[in-house]
Amino acid sequence: MDFSFSDHQLLIRDTVRDFVHAEVRPHVKDWERTGHFPLEAIKKLAELGCCGMLMPEAWGGPGLDTISYVLMIEEVARVHAALATALSVTNSAVQLPLLAFGSDAQKHRFLKPLAAGEFLGAFCLTEPPAGSDAAGIQLRASRSAETYSLTGTKTWVTNGSAAGVYLVFAKTDPSAGGKGITAFLVEPSFPGFKVGRHEDKMGQRSSPSVELIFDNCQVPAANRLGEEGQGLKIALSALDGGRIGIAAQAVGLAQGALDESAAYARTRKAFGKSIAEFQAIQWMLADMQTEIEAARLLLYRAAFLKDQQSLPGHSPMGSAASRAKLYASEMVNRVVYKAVQIFGSLGYSRESDVERMYRDARVISIYEGTSEIQRTIIARDLLAAR
Ligand SMILES: Cc1cc2nc3c(=O)[nH]c(=O)nc-3n(C[C@H](O)[C@H](O)[C@H](O)COP(=O)(O)OP(=O)(O)OC[C@H]3O[C@@H](n4cnc5c(N)ncnc54)[C@H](O)[C@@H]3O)c2cc1C
Repeated sequence: MDFSFSDHQLLIRDTVRDFVHAEVRPHVKDWERTGHFPLEAIKKLAELGCCGMLMPEAWGGPGLDTISYVLMIEEVARVHAALATALSVTNSAVQLPLLAFGSDAQKHRFLKPLAAGEFLGAFCLTEPPAGSDAAGIQLRASRSAETYSLTGTKTWVTNGSAAGVYLVFAKTDPSAGGKGITAFLVEPSFPGFKVGRHEDKMGQRSSPSVELIFDNCQVPAANRLGEEGQGLKIALSALDGGRIGIAAQAVGLAQGALDESAAYARTRKAFGKSIAEFQAIQWMLADMQTEIEAARLLLYRAAFLKDQQSLPGHSPMGSAASRAKLYASEMVNRVVYKAVQIFGSLGYSRESDVERMYRDARVISIYEGTSEIQRTIIARDLLAAR
């Protein structure tokens, strides 16, 4: 067993760390306050190869392994979780299904520019009546000749106001339940496509989460991803990979909160000494670090298994990504709670970074499958294996 990173992985980690420190950190408070989506920072991250890290060179990416991708997301989330959300969706939830199920023509049209960061992707599954229950979506797609007509509403679409392509799941055969779902690559210029209201959120306020309205939206049959009825399989496979990115976001954000907390504990004085000298504070910091490290190991193992599963003779990743996502997303909420506690009243003030981190962390146990759904996946997997 080897716990070390390759030189190339370390280079990626350090390059992204330096970039976010110089170009993101100084602006986070302002972006968060104004709800600004930092497309200019994303463009620069794209130049570093961060918008299509997992894509092979043939499709415009650097063809990196999942550990490298995880290190990138961790470093971004350590400073700005909302930016990590945008990168995670475009890198994995949209590009991995395109790579696995797309035709060569679709890969030329969408995957290459996505991997180069020329535009972002959005993943559109959730609807007002259906979140966890993905098979319950109601957006309808009906075919006539070479066109599908999509009618319905999606909600909570990350990157939804700024994407160049939308991976949309719709019912082509409502009587077939989950087997009647089909995936489509929708372009924002298609007639009948409209961006609706923006969600007014607790945290991650500079990552847009929007409603999308499909009013008889005309989608050429050539933009169908995979076969009719394959949509749920495509969505679930995208979420499997996506969970690793979300676990990485949790670990990165928690690390950022620990960095802030340790630095503050050394400088804040009470009763004539720094609060870092109180055992109560030391124990909080020790628990934070231990839990972060436990989550990081689950995360790296899931990333390792994901890369191995594509090799002949290796077993599938199974529920490893769900275990990493479940533990990391709950861990980050415990860590940010302690961070605010260590900061005292300043932790409750918009002046401190940990106040934002506290709000940003809350959603991580909800999106890309709630903790309850992760536990269901893990239990199903372990019971099937007995
Ligand atoms: C900031 C943000 C960004 C998002 N980005 C996207 C995106 O880009 N694309 C997208 O498609 N969606 C996105 N989502 C939606 C997200 O994936 C859903 O919110 C999530 O899947 C949960 O669905 P729901 O909110 O409808 O909750 P519900 O499914 O209504 O669940 C409500 C509660 O019931 C529990 N529950 C439901 N079913 C079960 C069950 N079988 N067993 C036990 N408990 C259960 C849930 O765990 C939860 O606690 C985003 C959400 C947020 C908040």
